[in-house]
Amino acid sequence: MSKVIGHFIGGERVTGTSGVLNPVYDPATGKVQAQLAMANLDDLNNAVNNASQAQPAWAALNPQKRGRVFMKFVELLHRDMDKLAEALSSEHGKTLPDAKGDVIRGLEVAEFCIGAAQMMKGEFTEGAGPGIDIYSMRQPLGVVAGITPFNFPAMIPMWKFCPAIAAGNAFILKPSERDPTVPLMLAELLLEAGLPAGILNVVNGDKVVVDGILDHPDIAAIGFVGSTPIAEYIYSRGCTNGKRVQCFGGAKNHMIIMPDADMDQAVDALIGAGYGAAGERCMAISVAVPVGEEAANALMERLKPRVEALRVGPYTQADADFGPLITAEARQRVLSLVDSGVEAGATLAVDGRKLSVEGYEDGNFVGACLFDHVTTDMAIYREEIFGPVLCVARAADYEAALRLPMENEYGNGVSIFTRDGDAARDFTSRINVGMVGVNVPIPVPLAYYTFGGWKRSGFGDLNQHGADAFRFYTRTKTVTQRWPSGIKDGADFNIPTM
Ligand code: NAD
Repeated sequence: MSKVIGHFIGGERVTGTSGVLNPVYDPATGKVQAQLAMANLDDLNNAVNNASQAQPAWAALNPQKRGRVFMKFVELLHRDMDKLAEALSSEHGKTLPDAKGDVIRGLEVAEFCIGAAQMMKGEFTEGAGPGIDIYSMRQPLGVVAGITPFNFPAMIPMWKFCPAIAAGNAFILKPSERDPTVPLMLAELLLEAGLPAGILNVVNGDKVVVDGILDHPDIAAIGFVGSTPIAEYIYSRGCTNGKRVQCFGGAKNHMIIMPDADMDQAVDALIGAGYGAAGERCMAISVAVPVGEEAANALMERLKPRVEALRVGPYTQADADFGPLITAEARQRVLSLVDSGVEAGATLAVDGRKLSVEGYEDGNFVGACLFDHVTTDMAIYREEIFGPVLCVARAADYEAALRLPMENEYGNGVSIFTRDGDAARDFTSRINVGMVGVNVPIPVPLAYYTFGGWKRSGFGDLNQHGADAFRFYTRTKTVTQRWPSGIKDGADFNIPTM
C-alpha cells in the first residue's frame, strides 16, 4: 500500500472524509508512488469554517507582525530548500536545480510580502472641503482561494497565498492533484513560521472541490492559474457567483530573431527557454521567428546540433538538461502533435519521438524535437504543446514577424533579439502581449513587478504578485470625515440650545 497524501486543515494534516483516492505517479518510472485523498464538499466546508474562524484575529494583527511571519517563512524555505526540491522533482520530474528555481521564485514573493505594511497603506487628503478630510484604507476580503497548476507546484501557490495572507485574509489552496506534496510542506513551514492555524488550508482534489470553491458563499475571491479552457470556466462561474476572480491561462510565446541579433546568444536563449523543464512552462518559448532567410538558415545551422545534444533523464541524473513529462497522457498528446506537424508538412529537423531512457523505459520521456518551416495553419503552431518541441516559423521581414504574436490568440510572453534599439522600442510599444523581453528569452518579472498575460492568457483585470496582488486580495474603503468644533474650543458652561 503506497502512502496516502491528505489535506492541511486547521493547522494539521488530515485525510478527509471522502474515501476517494487518486494515484500520484513518478513521471520518470511511470509507477504510482502515492495515493492522494480527494476532498469532498464536507472537507471543503471544514476548511472554510476553520478559515472563517481564524481570519478576524489574523486581520486584526498589525501588518508589520504579519510581515514578520513571512520573514521567518523565507528563512525556513532556505533551511529546507534541498528537501523541497527533492520532493518537487520526484513528483514533477524537473531537474533539481530547476526545482530550486521553482521554490526560489515563490520565496521572492514571500520576501516582498515582508513589506505588507507598505502595501496596505491608504491615501489621505487633508482639507478636501471646509474641515473635511478624505482617506482610504485597504481591508482584507475574508476567506479567499487559489487553484493552481502542476507545472510550478511551489512558485504559483506562493504567488497566490503569500500576498493574500499578508494582506490579512485566510486562504484555501487547491493545488494540482499531480504533484501535491510541496504545497503541504509549504503550509507546514508557514505554521512553523508563526502563522495561526486555519489561515492557510490546503484542500486536495479535482473538479468536485473546485466547483465547491466556485459556489461557496463564504469565499470572496479566487486566483486561478492553469490551462485556458479551465481559466475561462473558472472566471465565468466565479464571476456569476459574484466573486472577485483572476485567471491566468495558457500561452504560445514567440521569440523574434532579427537579422542583426547575436546568433549564438539567441541559440543559447532558445535552448534554455524552449526545452527547460521539458517545455512545461507557461513562459517557455515555443515559436522562434527568424527574420529573413539568411538569419533563419544561420539559426537552424547552430540550433540543430545543440538540440540534438540535449540530455534527457530523471532528476536523479545530475547532468540531465530536462526530465520527463508529467503524465503518460501528456507524453501521448505531445507525440501526437509532433506526428501532426510532420503530416502537415513541417520539417522535423530533430526528432525526439523515439527516445528511450535506459532503466526508465516506462517513464514519460520525450526527446527534444525541432521543427522548421512551421506555418500558422498547423496544429503545432496553433496549440500550446507544453512539451520539448520548438517550432521555427520563418518571417520575411519585421512586420511579418510582428504579426505572428500580434495575431495569436495567446498573449503571455514574447521576446525580440536584436542589436537595434529602434526596432526593440517599436516592438515593445506595439506588441499586444503582457510580458516582453528584449534580448531576454523568458521575461518573467520579479516579485515587485506584476505577472500576467493578455488576450486568452489572462482573464480579469489585475496581475499576480507585486502591488496588484495586494489590490486583488483587498478592498478599498473610503472615509469622508468632518468634525464639529470640539474640546479644543474650551468648555461651555451654558446649557446647549438650538
Ligand atoms: P489545468 O488547467 O489542467 O489545471 C489547473 C488546475 O485546475 C488544477 O488545480 C486542476 O485540478 C484544476 N482543474 C483541471 N480541470 C478542471 C475542471 N474540468 N474543472 C475544474 N478544475 C479543473 O492546468 P495544468 O495542466 O495543471 O497546468 C498547465 C497549464 O497551466 C498550461 O496551459 C500553462 O500554460 C498554464 N500555466 C499558466 C501560467 C500563467 O501564469 N499564465 C502559469 C503556469 C501554468
